[in-house]
Formats: sequence, C-alpha cells, structure tokens
Amino acid sequence: MRLILLGPPGAGKGTQAERLQAKYSVPQFSTGDLLRSVIAEGGEIGEMISEAVRSGTLVSDETVLEVIAEKLDHSSSVNGFILDGFPRNVAQAEALDAILAVKGMALDSVIEIRIPDSFLVERIIGRYSCSNCMEGYHDTFKHPKVPSVCDKCEGRSFIRRPDDNVSLVKMRLNVYHEQTAPLMSYYDKKGLLRSVDGKNSIDGVIREISVLLD
Ligand code: AMP
Repeated sequence: MRLILLGPPGAGKGTQAERLQAKYSVPQFSTGDLLRSVIAEGGEIGEMISEAVRSGTLVSDETVLEVIAEKLDHSSSVNGFILDGFPRNVAQAEALDAILAVKGMALDSVIEIRIPDSFLVERIIGRYSCSNCMEGYHDTFKHPKVPSVCDKCEGRSFIRRPDDNVSLVKMRLNVYHEQTAPLMSYYDKKGLLRSVDGKNSIDGVIREISVLLD
C-alpha cells in the first residue's frame, strides 16, 4: 500500500497514520516529526528548519525531499508506506512521482481528511504529547486514563508543540489553503483522490478510510 493522507493541520492525519500503520503493517512517515527530529539534533540545518516551523511557513522543498527520500529508500518501505504531511505543494508531489517512477512504483491512493477550518483551532491548541514516547493527548478530547500519567509508557512529563498556538495555526491554515489544497485537483486528475469526513470521531474516520482501502 502506497498511501498519502492529505488534510489541514489538526485534521487527524498523524493519529490516522499511526492506526493505519498498525493495521496494514506498512511504515508511516510524518515529515513534521522527521523535521522536528532534525531540529532536535541542532546544527545549521536544524536551525534553518526551526525558523520555518516557528514562523508557520514551509521548509524548503530541497530539505524536505532529502529527508523523505531517505525514508523511501529504506528497505522498510519496499512493501509500501503512508505519508503524513508530505507532499505539501505541487512541486513536492511532482518530485515524489519522479522518485517513485525511478523505483518502478506508483501511488495507490490519496485520502483527503476533509474538515472546515472552524473545527481546527480548538483541536490544535488543545493537543499535547508525552515527552518520552510522544503519545498524543488533548485537553478536551483525549485525557490520559490516570491523570498526568502517560497511558503508553507511564511517563509523567508532557510537552506542547511551540507552533500549536492560535496565531501560528491561522498562518499554517493560510499556507495550507494556498499551497497544499491545489494537490486535491492534482491527485483527482490522476484518479487517486478520495475523501473522508474529518469531523467524525477518530474511530469513525478510521472506519471510513478502511472501507476505502479494503
Ligand atoms: P506538521 O507536523 O505536519 O504540522 O508540520 C509542522 C511544520 O513542519 C510545518 O508547519 C512546516 O513548517 C514543516 N513541514 C512539515 N512537512 C513539510 C513539508 N512536506 N514541506 C515543507 N514543510 C513541512
């Protein structure tokens, strides 16, 4: 399975990608997570990436392509992959097509998680993660079962993303509408695009995606 999940920040791509990874046994790659690991390593490239992330703009295509190409070259991707957060513009989509063509591969499906902007600000500013295992939680929608203790690793320290604040969310949504939304027609013309209703619960969305994929 070679799948792309599209949708605005806060649509639930990361949550769904993790579930799909477990269900279909193919790796998921989130360019946001991969770029945050490069930032954590420090150095000049990390600083450059951090500047873009902190301003809510896109990291350069060249940097992102380098990061994602390495993952697609990895042996774990040979039976497929799920991409979350990539491509983010038409130039990246064209570059992905070229990378796959060299490998004799093609995409199977592109699923758009559709959701109006009005739902997204609350979703994004309420989210936080365990700083140890990165399991995601939300102030309103998903609390740890034992307060302040991670369900997954029992860690007790939690973090919020610095770009998950109201003004940056609005900026990131503008970038999405201007640069990423044109991908819908790009993939629709190729006959690959299908969409699900991101307003549904996490379980409802995964059910809808599974019906499309199965
Ligand atoms: P995300 O975790 O997908 O919300 O991404 C967080 C930030 O990482 C974005 O606001 C961008 O600055 C950067 N980013 C993630 N994926 C890409 C991409 N494919 N192209 C450019 N920048 C990206």
